[in-house]
Amino acid sequence: MPQCTTEGESPTGRANPVDLHTHSAVSDGTLAPAELVREAHRRGLRVLGLTDHDTVAGLPEASAEAARLGLALIPGVELSTDLGPHEVHLLGYFVDGASPDLIAALATLARQRQERVERIVARLRAAGAPVDLDRVREIAGAGTIGRPHIARALIERGCVASVSEAFDRFLAVGRPGFVPRQKVPPEAAVTLIRRAAGVPVLAHPLTTGDVEGVLHRLRAVGLAGMEVYYGEYDDATRTRLRAVADRWGLIPTGGSDFHGPGFKHGRDLGGPPVPWETVTRLRAAATPSPSVAMPGPG
Ligand code: AMP
Ligand code: ZN
Ligand code: FE
Ligand code: FE
Repeated sequence: MPQCTTEGESPTGRANPVDLHTHSAVSDGTLAPAELVREAHRRGLRVLGLTDHDTVAGLPEASAEAARLGLALIPGVELSTDLGPHEVHLLGYFVDGASPDLIAALATLARQRQERVERIVARLRAAGAPVDLDRVREIAGAGTIGRPHIARALIERGCVASVSEAFDRFLAVGRPGFVPRQKVPPEAAVTLIRRAAGVPVLAHPLTTGDVEGVLHRLRAVGLAGMEVYYGEYDDATRTRLRAVADRWGLIPTGGSDFHGPGFKHGRDLGGPPVPWETVTRLRAAATPSPSVAMPGPG
């Protein structure tokens, strides 16, 4: 059967010790939270941020496994928001997964996602690509459901050969299965992360359309950092973004955006060189001070 991944990088490549942007099967990654932590440990990582899309459901399992292996797990989340035609993703570090505000907001997002998937599946049927809603739900499991799970169902049905083909032909903006998400303004995500004791960070800033404009809006409501050492960015881009972060007084963060082995070029676990200073600064920015113990840089 065709795989929904592109050719991956060698998992034996040397990993950097800090990776602050990863996804597990609780959203659209392929490894269970504990498996992800074991993979990070196997590669020699010392600090791992788990940032599943719109859910904190994987954090207890990941934290328990990290504690067992002696790896520091930074509890995180990645929230999808919208600014005109662009998606703006916000990472929250050291979030309190028990925050009632956060739990309520994530429950609303989950309900909206379910409804959206139902509408997409109906559109696909009408377009001659009949995927089964129950099968999509099964593929998603208990966590955040979304288009990547529909893409996998389309592959199973033999409608497409890969996830990218599923997006290109059916799921992307302007394609027959596209249904827009309920729009959430980025300010709402920053505020929510703050209220859940988290440190808000702008993810992969170059997909936002207007980096300076977004920083201007979000700095005003408490944005504390932005991704610089992102998996898919080259050295020149990282250098340029580091200067932007410094100019705005933002913590330069980073991570691979790993979704499982062989997911996408550049997104290998431990790929980007995230400086140790990032972990220290994130921890210092969290209020109240996090209970997670952090290793020293040595
Ligand atoms: P959703 O949250 O349901 O809108 O799906 C968004 C997710 O789909 C993103 O987080 C990506 O992981 C994935 N995605 C978006 N566009 C593409 C694409 N062109 N090819 C493969 N995956 C994509
Ligand atoms: Zn994802
Ligand atoms: Fe993202
Ligand atoms: Fe991500």
